[in-house]
Amino acid sequence: MKKISVVVPCYNESQVLEIFYKAVTAELIKIPECDYELLFVDDGSSDDTLKIMKSLSEKDDKVLYISLSRNFGKEAAMYAGMQKSTGDYVVIMDADLQDPPELIPQMLSALENEGYDCAGSRRVTRKGEPPIRSFFARLFYKIINKMSDAEIVDGARDFQMMSRKVVDSILMLKEYNRFSKGIFGWIGFKKKWFEYENVERAAGETKWSFWKLFMYALQGIVAFSTAPLVFASFFGLLCCVLAILLIFVTIFRTLVFGDPTAGWPSLVCIILLLSGIQMFGIGILGQYLAKTYLETKNRPIYLISETNINKNEGQAKD
Ligand code: UDP
Ligand code: MG
Repeated sequence: MKKISVVVPCYNESQVLEIFYKAVTAELIKIPECDYELLFVDDGSSDDTLKIMKSLSEKDDKVLYISLSRNFGKEAAMYAGMQKSTGDYVVIMDADLQDPPELIPQMLSALENEGYDCAGSRRVTRKGEPPIRSFFARLFYKIINKMSDAEIVDGARDFQMMSRKVVDSILMLKEYNRFSKGIFGWIGFKKKWFEYENVERAAGETKWSFWKLFMYALQGIVAFSTAPLVFASFFGLLCCVLAILLIFVTIFRTLVFGDPTAGWPSLVCIILLLSGIQMFGIGILGQYLAKTYLETKNRPIYLISETNINKNEGQAKD
């Protein structure tokens, strides 16, 4: 009998966890041909999330939980869950019921009967989201898809069902700076898309402020494209060409008209402009250097403080 693992990253989700558990279980028991496990990952929540997970696991032995030692972020929580999952199929779902559990049987059928390796979901509307956020999100997808060769689909959610092959491939990408939207696109494989209208959170609040999303977008660009570096070099080259032209113009002007001292204001403008461009270039370089620095430290992606899976297992190495 095949098994479905449902991985749920949770950060301060005490308000929705039980509603989520009921809704998903109701859907999973409708699939008699598959066994299942519900794997909750507590991403260092400061509310009762872990307590609820524990009480659910006492009532239902299909419920497993991992509690991370602090808030490592959703990317790390998903990685932890995938690494501990044992199912032939792995589903990643948010705890807030924004990902409709009714899609699970359809996704399963795409994987089992239609020969797909992965069933992804994308929302086709952004209803209920602030317009400014939607605008920047769209802009981000446009920019990153121009800059990167990993396909990053606008509106794609992390909600998806993957075969073991796909999960193992994702687990092979052990980078510390994880940008899952890019990783899911980068690995390839045959993916079927399910589209649905945006659903608002069942309860609780989003963990993403505008600023956090902005930083996440920057991180995504640095993680999946080196185009900014090329851009910086190109700009440098352009400035050199302009400077050489200007040198010739100045020599010519001095020889023809004399007056070598005029042009102080223009000189200041040029110095300011060039040093600005230089700082910009160094900044871009710094972003990549910082990421490289973090990668070379080779730190674990997450640390576990408590779990009911294999109780004697130590902390994750990768
Ligand atoms: N989440 C997490 N760690 C974090 C932030 C969020 O595990 O640091 C989880 C959160 O509990 C939820 C999912 O990631 O299950 C998506 O978060 P949220 O609903 O806040 O994001 P949105 O749907 O607004 O993009
Ligand atoms: Mg959400």
